[in-house]
Amino acid sequence: MSQSRDGALAQDRADMLAPLRQRFAQPHTAQGRPCAYLCGHSLGLMPLAARALLAAELDDWARLGVLGHENAQRPWITYHDALAAPMAELLGCDAEEVVVMNSLSVNLQLLLASFYQPAGVRRRILIEAGAFPSDRYAVMSHLRWHGCEPRTDLIELAPRDGEDLIREADVEAALQRDGERIALVLWPGVQYLTGQAFDLARIARAAHAVGALAGFDLAHAVGNMPFPLRAGAADFAVWCSYKYLNAGPGALGGCFVHRRHFDSARPRLVGWWGHDLASRFDMPHDFRAAAGAAGFQVSNQSVLAAAPLVASLALFREAGMERLRRKSVALGAYFEQLIAQRTPQVRVMTPRDVAARGAQFSLRIDGDPMRARRVLDGLRRRGVICDWRAPDIIRAALTPLYNGFVDVFDFVENLAASLQEA
Ligand SMILES: *Cc1c(COP(=O)(O)O)cnc(C)c1O
Repeated sequence: MSQSRDGALAQDRADMLAPLRQRFAQPHTAQGRPCAYLCGHSLGLMPLAARALLAAELDDWARLGVLGHENAQRPWITYHDALAAPMAELLGCDAEEVVVMNSLSVNLQLLLASFYQPAGVRRRILIEAGAFPSDRYAVMSHLRWHGCEPRTDLIELAPRDGEDLIREADVEAALQRDGERIALVLWPGVQYLTGQAFDLARIARAAHAVGALAGFDLAHAVGNMPFPLRAGAADFAVWCSYKYLNAGPGALGGCFVHRRHFDSARPRLVGWWGHDLASRFDMPHDFRAAAGAAGFQVSNQSVLAAAPLVASLALFREAGMERLRRKSVALGAYFEQLIAQRTPQVRVMTPRDVAARGAQFSLRIDGDPMRARRVLDGLRRRGVICDWRAPDIIRAALTPLYNGFVDVFDFVENLAASLQEA
């Protein structure tokens, strides 16, 4: 692979997915130069088509008022049904098992209400030490809600001493150790800080083997790598769509519920929008859940928030997740090669094993803790957008929908310059 900028540009010219970049808005520096945007793990870029789709809903609202529920170009009552199929393709499950609604942490709360039912000695929840704070808060709130004892009922599995990553074998061992006491495992598809991707099927198998349920947080996984969610037998999953799914700040989240739970007697927190559509508007006295994951809806849907997701999912369909993944792997290999040559002092936390990582790379910057922050500032001044997490981690995502080899080249060159300066 090429070690010059021209070489990187030539690789981009040979990449059949490269034209997709023109379908996204491109952030610019204050001086008007295009940025190298490597922050798709935090907020994906705006698909240009989002503007027209959003404007169409505003127009229908202006033109039709309440009649838009039935007469809008995309009727609002069923607006979200059209999102389930493309979402299910990305997740490797059936459309019926998916619902797009609310935001991530709210969905996690709702599904914990159904899937965390402590009984007898089986009351513990297994999560990773270093879980995204919102997930930890949510789990803690359910332990307290049920009168459990967080100090013993929350198990937080850490990497081994001196390691950054958690081994799946250690997850299995933790489940074996505490087997009959564990009610639920909540695990990330891709870890937000390290970029480690987990073998979710293996974790679900291990959970089920001891009689526990397995729920997954796919915030950093959906749109990043293909996940055969259903084959992996997850009980439930939740995600957001503003990261790799490019649906805009605070965009809608989503839920997956495995079909084996469709008719279960599990309690759920409900509202009228989860009622069977055939009789929802008869305003019946008693709740009857819609079939599938749709029966977990609570409120009527946020059409204006969903419009950008329609635009983004169309781009995923066009590109194909498998092709995006192949490009993602190639970008990652190029990144590793350049980092090893140009900035060997930087330690890459993200796994070297391609199967155990997606588009994100996390770099540890040595020196005093604020050095990483100074390196980030240097990158920003040079028109590179990525992010920093305390104490010394820089995260950069090579998003195959809109990043090219030249972005990887520019990142590493500017990282080298920023390291020298800091
Ligand atoms: C991004 C992210 C969140 C954010 O939650 P919101 O409810 O969307 O604000 C939560 N958990 C994880 C693991 C995340 O990566």
